[in-house]
Amino acid sequence: MTDSIYRLVYYSRNHIASDEALFASNVEEILAKSRVNNERDEITGALLFNAGCFAQVLEGPLERVEAAFERIQQDERHGDVSLLALDPVQHRSFPNWAMGFIGASEIQAIRFAEIGSSSGFDPSRLSGDEIHSLLKDLAIEEEAA
Ligand code: FAD
Repeated sequence: MTDSIYRLVYYSRNHIASDEALFASNVEEILAKSRVNNERDEITGALLFNAGCFAQVLEGPLERVEAAFERIQQDERHGDVSLLALDPVQHRSFPNWAMGFIGASEIQAIRFAEIGSSSGFDPSRLSGDEIHSLLKDLAIEEEAA
């Protein structure tokens, strides 16, 4: 991985039906596809879901991150995709994750609910840096769990 690394952060509105089982199977499908594509494209990152929104960090070579984001933007499983940041970075924040999903474990769900209730978490009100820091903190906890 010798190319410069870029970090892209966005959030979007979930368009997947609220039925829990249907949502879980859709997310599983998205993650499975993401992990195959991202590994191929040297992209790492993390995806977060909360209260009808997705927030995602993608990091990797610029052209590949942009190509993945093009595909993601056209996906009808979400909408109102808002780009928050696209910047060169020194290091990857999620070097071990082709696409980590935050919120999958019970610990994450509890921790995330705490953040939600204390800050009224709404991705549309956070900056790219804030979403990146949040995902990084939660990922560190997930890896330590
Ligand atoms: P194929 O899998 O062959 O799909 C072809 C087309 O069908 C695509 O336009 C795809 O969007 C659409 N499609 C496939 N399955 C469904 C379905 N069940 N419902 C609706 N449309 C469908 N992709 C990545 O590569 N990396 C990521 O990190 C990533 N993150 C994502 C995060 C979110 C929140 C969402 C909603 C999607 C994400 N995706 C990601 C998936 C991405 O939007 C594309 O579906 C995927 O990249 C297409 O892969 P492909 O070119 O191999 O096409």
